[in-house]
Order: sequence, then structure tokens, then C-alpha cells
Amino acid sequence: MTKTKVSIQRVFGYESENVRLALLKSLEFLGGLEHIIQPKSHVFVKINHLSPPSPPDDMIVTHPVFTKELLGLLLDMGCEITVGDDIQSKKEDGFLISGYRKICTALGVRLVNLKEIGFREIACNGQILTKSYISPLVLDSDFLINLPKLKTHSFMAFTGAIKNMYGVIPYGLRCSYHREYAKSEIFGQMLVDIFSCATPHLNIMDAIHAMEGEGPSAGSPKKIGLILASSDAVALDAVASKIIGLDPMQIHTTIDASKRGFGTAQMAEIEILGEKIQDVEVRDFKQSAIAVGLIRKNIPAILHGFIQWQLVLIPRVFQKKCTACQECVDICPKGAAQMLEGKASIDKSRCLHCMCCHEVCRFHAIKLGQRPLGRMLRRMTTIYKKIMSFFS
Ligand code: SF4
Ligand code: SF4
Repeated sequence: MTKTKVSIQRVFGYESENVRLALLKSLEFLGGLEHIIQPKSHVFVKINHLSPPSPPDDMIVTHPVFTKELLGLLLDMGCEITVGDDIQSKKEDGFLISGYRKICTALGVRLVNLKEIGFREIACNGQILTKSYISPLVLDSDFLINLPKLKTHSFMAFTGAIKNMYGVIPYGLRCSYHREYAKSEIFGQMLVDIFSCATPHLNIMDAIHAMEGEGPSAGSPKKIGLILASSDAVALDAVASKIIGLDPMQIHTTIDASKRGFGTAQMAEIEILGEKIQDVEVRDFKQSAIAVGLIRKNIPAILHGFIQWQLVLIPRVFQKKCTACQECVDICPKGAAQMLEGKASIDKSRCLHCMCCHEVCRFHAIKLGQRPLGRMLRRMTTIYKKIMSFFS
């Protein structure tokens, strides 16, 4: 049986030359970049670039040095490249703050905010979606390269290669899908539907400095020192989640995509090249609170609803930090985030717990709380994991 290849390469920090050499090495394990991407072809590079403008060292976006070094390799092959993501920068240029404007200008590479080009309706033979709206830049490229950032996610527990493709559909649609598919399991199926319409040829994950805790934007940077690469996004996500202590078969996107044959999440079917998983595991990686819900498999099914209700994250506005920018109000799919007396406020009775407001607030004014039993379960899970890692 031919196994799916995932390469794991060490590199410490974002020093250009080191990143370039590490990228070359990780791609060599897959047979070389030319083995996957045809020279002189049109390539779309999908970065992970959230809307709230953030500098690269916050570790919210795929680091621009990481992308720059890959672009250099593609330029050497004579490729015509477009780099992009769909972002909602208003007053400020998000690409300028993250460093993308500078690197793409310097290299002469086209950088596009996808909303400026528009989206094309296509049929989608998905579990949930029958049609979707994808950027024509993605659909018309010869090759699609996906550059996710290794981060936790306060709604989906983990964000990796599959979820990064959510950014190729319009922002407004993303908000309404949050409203329509409010359960994380169903939301995961919808994400896989989008992925099925825009499946990358190559996925390279920036796990040099990751994000732990309440990602994808309000967590803390964590030095991991790795680059992961694979043509199989499902296998790459499975390996990445395992490295940070999550069971891949409890990540909704991984389970669903592997069941539907978009790749494999079975370790027996994956050939790891470069570093071994056990040598690079990060045992003290802080999970998102919602990831504690993954312990559900050890709890009788009759209690799942109650446990989930206890574990659910509840956004609250920390008014002293609120600058009244209204980004949370604009993104809230349920109208639960509102402005009251010049500050944001959240109507708990309308909240879907989608965490969009938390993700978009760049002033860290939205904090996530849990019900008392949820908090206790979370602490117990952390202690349990520490004890288990001590004995393993
Ligand atoms: S809570 Fe955050 S996103 Fe919402 S208005 Fe205040 S600063 Fe802006
Ligand atoms: S208040 Fe925040 S978590 Fe609740 S529905 Fe609105 S965006 Fe989602």
C-alpha cells in the first residue's frame, strides 16, 4: 500500500535563510517542489490572514517570512503567482500591518484581497452545500498552495489546512454559515464541503511559532519550531493535531474529510519523513477550552448535552478595553453583539457561541468565560493530561 507522505522539518525562528533551507528540505521529502507544482504555471497561494489587522509577531497570520521564502522558490521555477485571502480591513490596510504588502511588492508578486475580485457560483456536491461561491483566482489557477498556521480554535478546537480554505468564500457568506450551521459538527461538514470545492495541491504549515489557548486570534504565541508539508491536507492536519496533543479522530474536519476520502487521518497509512512525531510532540500545549469537550468520548452519551452546555464558551465584553470599533457588531451573525452606551455588549440569549466576535476583536476586549462546572472540568482535564504525559 502506498502511504501518504507528511514531512516534519525543524527550524527555529523566522530567519530567512534558515526558513528557506527548512522549506527546501521538507519539500525534498515529498520529491521536490517541481514534483508537485509545474514550472511556469499559475499558482494561487492561500495564506491564513484574519481580518483584524495584526503584526506578524502576534502569530495570528502565516508569517510573511515563511511565505516570502516559498514565493522565492516558486519564482525560481518561473511561476506566475497570486497571494491572497479574503479580509475585511476597513480603515487600515491589513496586508500592510501584517507585512504582506511589503514582501509581495519587493518580490513583484500580486497580492489580492479576494473580495476585490468577487466570487463565482459553482456547484458543490457536499454533505450540506449544493453550491458555493469561490474566488475565481482559486478556481482558475493551475495549482493551489495552502499555507495554514498551526493554531487552536475556540469554536473548532483546531484550525489547520482544511479550515484555512474557508477563506476562499465571501465574508458575508462565512457569517451566515456560522448562523445556519451553529453546531461544530455540522460546521465541520460544511468546511469540508468548501474544501472539496477548493482542494489544495500542496499544504505547508507554518508551525514555527504557533498559537495556543484561545486561538485563532486571542491565544498566545508558542514556539514549536516546525514546518509540516504534505499534498494531503487531511493527513497534515492529523499529524499537526497529534503533535499538539489532540486526538485527530476528534477533530470534526479531520474525521469528516477522512470519511469522505479526501485524505487519510490513519497514522498507519501515513509515512512521516524527517522528524518523528514522538520527538517533536508538545506536551504542555494549551488547548482551547472547547477542546475539553473532546473528552466526551469517555462520558456516557446521555450526559453529552449537559456537558457541552457546561463547556460552551460565553463571550463577554471587557468594557475598559473596548474602543467601540464595532467590528464585533458587524460580524455577529445573530445580532447578539450590539453597541450600548458607546461600548459593545453581548445579548447572551441570542448568542450562538460561534466566537466570530472574539476572533475579530483586535483589542482583546472580548473574553471567554465558562459555566462553573465547565471550568472545573477544564481544570480536571489539564491535570489528567499532565499526569498521563508524566507516565507516558
Ligand atoms: S468589543 Fe472589540 S470588536 Fe467589539 S467594539 Fe469593542 S473593541 Fe471593537
Ligand atoms: S455574540 Fe459573538 S459568539 Fe455570540 S453569536 Fe455574536 S459573534 Fe457569535
